[in-house]
Amino acid sequence: MLLSSGVIWRHRELDDFLRECPGGSVELQTLVHERLDGDLAWLEGLGARVVERSTGNPRTTGIRFDTRSLTDTLAGYGGELRLGDPLRELPAGVPVVLATGGFAANRDLVRESITPEADGLFLRATPWSTGDGLALGRTAGAATAAGMAEFYGRNMPAPPARIDEAQFVSLAQLYASHAEVESATGERYRAQTWSEIDVVQWTARQPGARATYRVPESRLGEKVRARTIGEMVTAAERAGAPVRRTRSDVEVEVVAGITTTLGGLAVDSAARAAPGVYAAGCDVGGISTGGYSSGLAAALVLGRIAAESALEGR
Ligand SMILES: Cc1cc2nc3c(=O)[nH]c(=O)nc-3n(C[C@H](O)[C@H](O)[C@H](O)COP(=O)(O)OP(=O)(O)OC[C@H]3O[C@@H](n4cnc5c(N)ncnc54)[C@H](O)[C@@H]3O)c2cc1C
Repeated sequence: MLLSSGVIWRHRELDDFLRECPGGSVELQTLVHERLDGDLAWLEGLGARVVERSTGNPRTTGIRFDTRSLTDTLAGYGGELRLGDPLRELPAGVPVVLATGGFAANRDLVRESITPEADGLFLRATPWSTGDGLALGRTAGAATAAGMAEFYGRNMPAPPARIDEAQFVSLAQLYASHAEVESATGERYRAQTWSEIDVVQWTARQPGARATYRVPESRLGEKVRARTIGEMVTAAERAGAPVRRTRSDVEVEVVAGITTTLGGLAVDSAARAAPGVYAAGCDVGGISTGGYSSGLAAALVLGRIAAESALEGR
């Protein structure tokens, strides 16, 4: 959450959400859609600092928060925090909410579930989400939802580019739909979604988890959200990625960056994964399946439901 852009959003129309994420659970998707605005008001009421009341995308609505303020506010509200003491076993007789952020940082699980090119992927996230919640939930008898092979990410400047965590957002190469996208085998791909999540998932399965974006010089001035394509290319070049400029085109080598896994535990509408075991955030699957929706929104809504259920013993 701290590393994110802090935009907590939903599709304006539930139908768009259901259409864009066709493999998900309609029950959970409807829950996130219907509860998000109230939960955003709750979050704001706690004192988290709002940066912008817009997502910059006409299809979606939401709020951008300052992520430091968001995490500090929630940490303060949540009571005692014990760091460096990961839960490895479920305590008997005590309700537990699993919220360990999925398994993006677990190379073996990513190789097994998502791509044989796991070693080539760039980890655009915390190194600590290694699937502990998933493992604990399974041990307790929980099932997994559809879509274990799916993840959310961005294509990033390829090695030898150097990227630190403060640049996860600014170095994202988000112009595949304006480019010819090709892998080392000569296979080409045309972007099909506005989030470009499909391009990133395709790239992750190419040799070395890499691809080349070829953009005509004439399009470098075009804007994608707040930045021009030229600005994104220059940022990749400065970071040290292989960038080739000819008189008519620019070619940028990109690597698939994994941000969060989208597959996870199956939960019901009370966020229950198994008796006494609840889950939220990226430990839960079946929300963005087949597409992409806000991970922060799912974490907020399911997190509150899971906490309420655990307290009430539902
Ligand atoms: C660069 C970037 C930009 C993003 N931008 C957006 C955006 O604008 N909008 C959006 O909706 N989403 C965005 N996301 C995704 C969003 O951050 C996640 O979907 C969201 O944080 C998931 O919430 P979570 O609670 O599941 O996981 P996290 O926020 O990752 O929290 C999980 C926590 O659990 C800890 N943990 C792991 N294992 C254990 C253990 N065994 N015991 C105890 N603790 C453990 C981890 O260290 C971590 O602190 C972005 C992510 C990144 C990295």
